[in-house]
Amino acid sequence: MLGTARAPACSAQTRSGSPCGATPMRDQEFCFWHHPDHQSEAAEARRLGGLRRRRERTLEGAYDLHERFRSVDGILRFVEIAALDLLGLDASVPRSNAMFRGALVAAKLLELGDLAERIADLEAALAKRSTDAASPFDVERDAGDARSPFHVDPNEADPPPDPALN
Ligand SMILES: [Zn+2]
Repeated sequence: MLGTARAPACSAQTRSGSPCGATPMRDQEFCFWHHPDHQSEAAEARRLGGLRRRRERTLEGAYDLHERFRSVDGILRFVEIAALDLLGLDASVPRSNAMFRGALVAAKLLELGDLAERIADLEAALAKRSTDAASPFDVERDAGDARSPFHVDPNEADPPPDPALN
């Protein structure tokens, strides 16, 4: 392949037997992952990558973030976990700042949760009332009630126009 314009590629084979094809290290035949001089570094990098992915999966399983972030109580629990971690640190201005931010988030969540609860109560009450025949706005009129200033007695109203005039 010497003399061709093709971009250089790692000449190692992958475990499945196909050519690696990755960009080789500068002036080398192999890429980082396949270079014989970097076997231990590559193995360590693979191990760390695997550890990180495993750690992410473990944490995701332990804290169940996917579900947690779908309710106010769940997010509040997340704030609690962060607050406990912060309390375990030595006192510092950044720790205090982070704790204040956590407190603000918690306060906002409590407010949202309270509003959601009230709206649910109102909706339930309205649904119950709509099954009753009477409207909550219907009132019996007492004889002693003052007349509305807008009330017009039918007898005092202007007579309807005489259709013969039109
Ligand atoms: Zn390679």
